[in-house]
Amino acid sequence: MAGVRKKKVQGKKTASRRPGTSSAPDGRMAIYPGSFDPITKGHVDIIRRACNVFSQVTVAVAYNPNKDEAMFSPDERVQMIHDALPELKGRLIADSFTGLLVDYARRIDAGVLVRGLRAVSDFEYEFQMTMMNRHLCPDVETVFLMAGEQHFYTSSRLVKEVATFGGDVTNFVPPEVLDRFHKRLKNKR
Ligand code: ADP
Repeated sequence: MAGVRKKKVQGKKTASRRPGTSSAPDGRMAIYPGSFDPITKGHVDIIRRACNVFSQVTVAVAYNPNKDEAMFSPDERVQMIHDALPELKGRLIADSFTGLLVDYARRIDAGVLVRGLRAVSDFEYEFQMTMMNRHLCPDVETVFLMAGEQHFYTSSRLVKEVATFGGDVTNFVPPEVLDRFHKRLKNKR
């Protein structure tokens, strides 16, 4: 029995070994990737929950330098994440990356990808992404968290749309983001 157990553990170790490292990625370190354009109260809820589960959470702003139609630059989005969650300083890292998420996960040695689920409509896309990331990097596990029900219909896309046409989005974005929103929209007019 002990022999079987040992074999199993050894097998797992080999499968999880990555170039340049001697052990599996750290399962206490999580990445929460997304566009965060901008961070919403739904994202904030997921980040807080992730910080209750993992020792360190990197909120990673994904961007494509060749085709980024975002309202805010990657640096602005990172700054807004910091601004929205000052109480998590030390355990929360905000960063931006381009390229494959799993490559970024390897670089920072994170073993878990956190994603948020809202309604059923998120599931199909998240399912595909999870399977692809698992194929690319079997060592990295994806976990899903759900925000409080008051955030079920909040998305950055919708919030931007409403704000662009003058609607009140106070309930959906952190106050620090609201200021930037108003300034950005004012400059656009
Ligand atoms: P959005 O769809 O708002 O543009 P992102 O690409 O920034 O969002 O999303 C990053 C992750 O956060 C995704 O897994 C997305 O499903 C999740 N997410 C976004 N908004 C919410 C919310 N209100 N509740 C739960 N999860 C959310």
